[in-house]
Amino acid sequence: MSARLVFATSNAHKVSELEAILAPAWEGFESGCVARMSDFDVASPVEDGISFEENSLIKARALARATGLAAIADDSGITVDVLGGAPGIFSARWAGSHGDDAANLRLLIDQLSDVPDRHRGAAFVSAAVLVTPEGREFVERGEVRGTLTRSPRGEGGFGYDPIFVPEGFEVTTAQMSAEQKNAISHRGIAFRALMPRIVEYLRG
Ligand code: IMP
Repeated sequence: MSARLVFATSNAHKVSELEAILAPAWEGFESGCVARMSDFDVASPVEDGISFEENSLIKARALARATGLAAIADDSGITVDVLGGAPGIFSARWAGSHGDDAANLRLLIDQLSDVPDRHRGAAFVSAAVLVTPEGREFVERGEVRGTLTRSPRGEGGFGYDPIFVPEGFEVTTAQMSAEQKNAISHRGIAFRALMPRIVEYLRG
């Protein structure tokens, strides 16, 4: 079977989380129905939207147009209460250069160094979208609240995972297994909500 869907992300961590979260959606379909962005020679579009939803749609629309396949995208980030919701959509380039996870994490830790524990609330947010070649668009949002530690803990995950302790837990998302994180994460919530639309599209 040739591919019918493509993931609009080149972030390897996100691709592996999405593959695990969406695995139930492919059951019953032949393998090979899902492609990766790296399978195509396409440039990433400029993400000039002002919300997670807008940026996610920009990515998926561009890839659906370029490939003729349905595209799935996630735009996500961390919103910190005491920073008025920042870094938000700027999470991937908070320290200046896009995708420098270590620099982004260090900057956020330094910015919050004097903030007392009771004001260290934050949330991970994901906008998950499916855009079909015919131009149908579906959007779901997932959010998980938590608090931020003062120093990094754990080796798993990526980005801001080493300082994010989800509500109801005592460990950071970097200390969780991939399965534990996907079960409660913003991306897990958003893509499980989108799953029926994806299955419906694949059934054609
Ligand atoms: P995007 O690829 O433009 O959506 O940027 C997402 C950025 O938000 C990443 O580079 C991370 O800094 C942050 N982020 C999103 N999801 C997560 C997560 O699950 N854990 C840690 N950081 C995340």
